[in-house]
Amino acid sequence: MTNLCGSAEQRPLMSQRSLPGTPVTHKHLPIDLRTSMDGKYKEIAEELLARSMTDSDMRCAPYEFPEESPIEQLEEKRHRLERQISQDVKLEPEILLRAKQDFMKIDSATDLEYMQDSQEDAVDQHHVEREMLVEKEFQRVSISGEEKCGVPFTDLVDAAKCVVKALFIREKYIALSLQSFCKTTTRSLQELNPRPLDVSAAEDLRGSPVDSDMRVHMPVSETHPYDGRHMTSLPPDAGYTCAMLDGVVHVYTAQNQDKSTELDLPYPDLQEYIADMNVMMSLIINGPVKSFCYRRLQYLSSKFQMHVLLNEMKELASQKQVPHRDFYNIRKVDTHIHASSCMNQKHLLRFIKRAMKKYPDEIVRVESGRGQTLMEVFENMNLTAYDLSVDTLDMHADRNTFHRFDKFNSKYNPIGESILREIFIKTDNHIHGKYFGHIVKEVMSDLEESKYQNAELRLSIYGRSVDEWDNLAQWAVTHSVYSDNVRWLIQIPRLFDVYRTKKQLMNFQQMLENIFLPLFEATVNPSSHPHLHLFLTHVVGFDSVDDESKPEHHIFNLDSPTPARWCDDNNPPYSYYLYYMYANMTVLNHLRRRRGFNTFVLRPHCGEAGPIHHLVSGFILSENISHGLLLRKAPVLQYLYYLAQVGIAMSPLSNNSLFLSYHRNPLPEYLSRGLMVSLSTDDPLQFHFTKEPLMEEYSIAAQVWKLSSCDMCELARNSVLMSGFSHRAKGYWLGPDYNKEGTISNDIRRTNVPDIRVAYRHETLCEELHLITQAVRTQELDRIEEEEDMLSFTPSQSTAPPISTLEKP
Ligand SMILES: [Zn+2]
Repeated sequence: MTNLCGSAEQRPLMSQRSLPGTPVTHKHLPIDLRTSMDGKYKEIAEELLARSMTDSDMRCAPYEFPEESPIEQLEEKRHRLERQISQDVKLEPEILLRAKQDFMKIDSATDLEYMQDSQEDAVDQHHVEREMLVEKEFQRVSISGEEKCGVPFTDLVDAAKCVVKALFIREKYIALSLQSFCKTTTRSLQELNPRPLDVSAAEDLRGSPVDSDMRVHMPVSETHPYDGRHMTSLPPDAGYTCAMLDGVVHVYTAQNQDKSTELDLPYPDLQEYIADMNVMMSLIINGPVKSFCYRRLQYLSSKFQMHVLLNEMKELASQKQVPHRDFYNIRKVDTHIHASSCMNQKHLLRFIKRAMKKYPDEIVRVESGRGQTLMEVFENMNLTAYDLSVDTLDMHADRNTFHRFDKFNSKYNPIGESILREIFIKTDNHIHGKYFGHIVKEVMSDLEESKYQNAELRLSIYGRSVDEWDNLAQWAVTHSVYSDNVRWLIQIPRLFDVYRTKKQLMNFQQMLENIFLPLFEATVNPSSHPHLHLFLTHVVGFDSVDDESKPEHHIFNLDSPTPARWCDDNNPPYSYYLYYMYANMTVLNHLRRRRGFNTFVLRPHCGEAGPIHHLVSGFILSENISHGLLLRKAPVLQYLYYLAQVGIAMSPLSNNSLFLSYHRNPLPEYLSRGLMVSLSTDDPLQFHFTKEPLMEEYSIAAQVWKLSSCDMCELARNSVLMSGFSHRAKGYWLGPDYNKEGTISNDIRRTNVPDIRVAYRHETLCEELHLITQAVRTQELDRIEEEEDMLSFTPSQSTAPPISTLEKP
């Protein structure tokens, strides 16, 4: 009987066949997570999916929380609360007085020491002695009483079970694909399921930086990663063969590709994924769960307001106390930026003018069999270098692009001419991306000059032909497009329908093969794709891009055609794309880890617009997402993204031009609630005006939303945490213990984030997780006691329920 748990313990991640709507996921858990929705997931989910295809302007979508009171009443309520708080504070004036005194005292002390400090950019050695002064204590807001969360206990238990179920689903997929999952959340889930999943597998964390006094800059390597030396000492051929079956690559140890020689590289099967999707879709529209999550989010906002009210002075004081460090010299990563628009317009313009002077006679393209020089291209357009201006380039998004993604896409063409886009911002043109390589390198050297700014540039792989990867890698290696400040993300546009209509592809599987088979070949035998092998060491993950608001004509379920049979001209839905990218990436990661190579993560554009199930797929499958705007309408999902600390790279300026005006952007709300958000630029070419687009983004956010210096530093720290830079780099930038929990993870001398803020975030997250796991456990214990009384059954361990309860349908 015990093998019911035992077998799952051996291979908790292997998929088992299951019927749609009855997920196998949690059968091995020693706790009971059944709710009233069990058995109905499929129906509920499919109804919601179907609605998302038809209703475009529903007044209130089923996953939204209806605001029962009109907005004035809410405002009134908030004002009343604020008045109450300020009165409470007046009753205890000594708190404020003391804070003020501390503030004054520390302020002048720091100034003195600041003057004495001359050491540039090294972590201050005297800090240890001064630690006594650094403020660690702060005013905590706590709620007392029996029912702390404002909903009846039965509702709490039901909601908690749903939330826990969803977190287990994400944990399973993230662990299986070797991506990383929030440590604090893992620990809480382990209390419910003592058999841990292997979630630390994401990166080899050995060889971590040791010295807490080490410099804040990582030592630069002396050899260029793309020089010849690296090309001659490639790892040996593992001799495996690969083939794609039903849209996922399988790897075999021998030439004969049958089951007996297949390597055990796990991935979740389609049935399980669809069942899990259905569970998630039902959760987000369940009334009591929705209302519970909505209340928790409101509570988190209010709690943060209180925290700021009480501790703002102390936070500021501890920032002032840190010598040398300020917002300008802390590490920031632009977590979402497309390489083809990473330069601003002025930069591109200058570059084009320079190219016209320097290479007028270079053949840059072939038109009907005849080579055209750069000079001729401009002559054909009736333009001279003098005519060119930012206005003629016309690449800025403006008010005509709002809600018009089609118009926005044409802004990628300088002077509205796709010829110039092809010549200057493509990697695979007649000149093998020479100009684009040069201009990206200029952007890179700007970043290096600024020292503290880094970017994860997104390059495209389309999946139209099998040699795209090799061409891209060739471009990077031959032009030495590399910088310690830059890592690559690979974006895959969801354009199957376009290629299919042009008869460039037979079916969807072909596209997947073009995208993934070269990666497997380079992993199995690096000498077969030497450039690609080198290039991949600087690639951190995959992104899925396109206009999310385009209507989808298909619901992804078990009746959906397999990729090999997906031959019609319609585009597969978002979740279909994401599942197959995830499944192949998972197999690839296991293979790469076996070979000792770096692994990848999934970081799609998600929730910028379009149906809500994009955010559900994103939650299940990806390490972090870009945009996430629609979370503002779905309280259950937003609460889940909070509890799992899923990174969200937000670009309010980009949103302002395309989908959501700036003042309605949910970033400040997300930040106050403690979601893991960072600021990013998306497309500086279209949205930004200055030479430092990331600083521009921060600066506007700070002014419009009145962010404090502490908020800004927290955003910057988040951006490093969620980025794909190496464990070692993060150790230098954030502190050697950055991947631990709580204040120990923070080194204010590097991050300029006060320990108070980090402690507040950590304690708040722990409390939320505790509330939920406690509710599940209390009910579990109650039920066991009841059953014990009835059956006089004595289990050996008090936490393990009797086996009979697990077997109930
Ligand atoms: Zn983008």
